[in-house]
Amino acid sequence: MQRRTCMVIAGLIVPPLLPFAAQAQAGGAPGARPASQAGVPGRNVLGGVPMTATDSNLKGIVSRLDFQSYKTLLKGLTQFGDREQGTQRNADAIDWIEAQLRSWGYTVERLKYIYRSRTDSTPQPREEVYATKIGRSVPGEMYIVGAHMDGRGGGEAANDDGSGTALVMEIARVLASADIQTTRSVRFALWNNEETGLNGARAYVEQRAPLQGIENPRGSGRYPEPKWLGMIQHDMMMWDHGLPVQWQQTLDADVDIEFQLNSAKAAESSQLALTLLNANRLFATDYPAVMSNSMSNTDSGAFQDLVAAVSLRENRRLYETGRGANPHWHQPTDLFVSFTDADFRLGFNAAQTTLGAVARLVEARVVPTP
Ligand SMILES: [Zn+2]
Repeated sequence: MQRRTCMVIAGLIVPPLLPFAAQAQAGGAPGARPASQAGVPGRNVLGGVPMTATDSNLKGIVSRLDFQSYKTLLKGLTQFGDREQGTQRNADAIDWIEAQLRSWGYTVERLKYIYRSRTDSTPQPREEVYATKIGRSVPGEMYIVGAHMDGRGGGEAANDDGSGTALVMEIARVLASADIQTTRSVRFALWNNEETGLNGARAYVEQRAPLQGIENPRGSGRYPEPKWLGMIQHDMMMWDHGLPVQWQQTLDADVDIEFQLNSAKAAESSQLALTLLNANRLFATDYPAVMSNSMSNTDSGAFQDLVAAVSLRENRRLYETGRGANPHWHQPTDLFVSFTDADFRLGFNAAQTTLGAVARLVEARVVPTP
């Protein structure tokens, strides 16, 4: 896997000096063409495929993601501590997420469900929020972009999963722009009760799968639950410090895109993962992505037999996270201050990856505002 490293100078990312062909392959802005290549058709390519006007348009949309905004959203989430389900911290964080989404112009909806713990069958009411960028010409079909807002461990659950929640919110912020239109819809879902067994995502599937694609009221052009085309989950996005663990972000850190080989929609899920992998090659500025097939232990599992489902992570869940790749996992040290800009930037590269892929899938474009 190709490595791309960057120097950080006074907050500016300076791309590495690569030969022109390598830059074009990496999807970076090639700048001025060397005189020897000027006018040579087909040189500005990615894996033999010419860059297109659509690619340029998508690049413009992905470029609206803002690193500081991502960090600010993550910092905002950590003010509520670990946001453990059932606590006031959790309820306050849901209100805060809703307020942010509303401030960008979204109508925010709440899914209400009953949670029963494994040790106490007392029914406990719970809630989670979602908001939707409605497609212009095919509003009745959508991709779901998700992360879990609940956490555990007594710290701030900054990485697990403030990092994914902030990523979903930052993408929502960009797509809220009045001058961005999409053909199909995108739903941003901030699951609750992931840490207790994916209960929030499972409740969503149970309640809303039967409503897919139904226009309601009839003739209104409104689809309360657009047909699911794919589900992209984000869970623990920042810490790829290798295994055995290194103190600093490794230079060959990458975004892991997982799907589940043993699922009914494995073929469709692998294609969705490939779309994300290619989006990473075109649009991510610092870190590459890799694919693997053992997606597990996150909210996309609730969808994997119904629709294409993938999860993006800092490490493979079973082979790395489960074997101690992140010492902050579910610990009081999962704090905002435990992470550096090199860590935040891995999460930000996952945001570039997902937005690039989703923008292509829903045919996002910038239109002149009146
Ligand atoms: Zn998690």
